[in-house]
Amino acid sequence: MLRLITAVFIAAGLFPAAHSKNNPLTYQAASFSYYFPQKNVEVVKSAYEEPGLSFLVLHDDENTGVEAAHDFCKAGGGSIVELQYGEERNITFGYRKTKFSFDPNQMFNNAGTYKTLRKYSVNRPVAETISLVRALAFEVLNTYNPDSLGYFITLHNNTEGRFSIASYQHDPLLKGVADSVYINQEMDEDDLILVTEPVFFSYLKARSINTVLQSENAKDGSLSVYAQTNRIPYVNIEVQDGHLQEHLRLIQVVDTMFKDIGHRQLYAGRP
Ligand SMILES: [Zn+2]
Repeated sequence: MLRLITAVFIAAGLFPAAHSKNNPLTYQAASFSYYFPQKNVEVVKSAYEEPGLSFLVLHDDENTGVEAAHDFCKAGGGSIVELQYGEERNITFGYRKTKFSFDPNQMFNNAGTYKTLRKYSVNRPVAETISLVRALAFEVLNTYNPDSLGYFITLHNNTEGRFSIASYQHDPLLKGVADSVYINQEMDEDDLILVTEPVFFSYLKARSINTVLQSENAKDGSLSVYAQTNRIPYVNIEVQDGHLQEHLRLIQVVDTMFKDIGHRQLYAGRP
């Protein structure tokens, strides 16, 4: 489905014109393949003709975010980096006796990579297995380049009722992950923004957006922990699968937030 979207927008590029709803900005897609045994992961970057926000989508079975990001970028510019590996949540590679699966949002440190491989695989990972997965994480970071952007914006989609902002208050596994949680009872509880900067939390709370401030005590292999550890401001905009208009609205809120606050001054990562 995502490939189809790509083809449609590249076709739109044949008719360049000022951007509007009828004449959207166009983009060029560039991708490279990362080869696991028996599995290729495509790292695809769609760069619009004008600069704007950059988005990162790690889970290939979550398409509402990709669609919302394209809707945002075709009006105002920007870019999208996404992983494509067969419309599944986990990446599975290898042969029968050396088959492994992992969650690509848990590959951003060694301990987390080991843990996610153990969780989803029958076989026990060896050092080489972990290195293979970690190399993909480095490729993703190189492509998205948060140190030049000064931030991460990731997009995720969840399923009705299985995970929500309330999970951060009630799920014992997530309870210690959040320092603060703001819930607007009028919003769908599956739609939320998770941030690592207290100033983002205050800003979004003041605008009645379901928001989670990640705790510095959160320690796993997820990208949000990588970001917090490396002092790179992180925003995850997560909505229920299919909530396209809400995803777009929350992206626009974050765009305005970055302009109002000046996200650049918050970046304290490597120069
Ligand atoms: Zn996801």
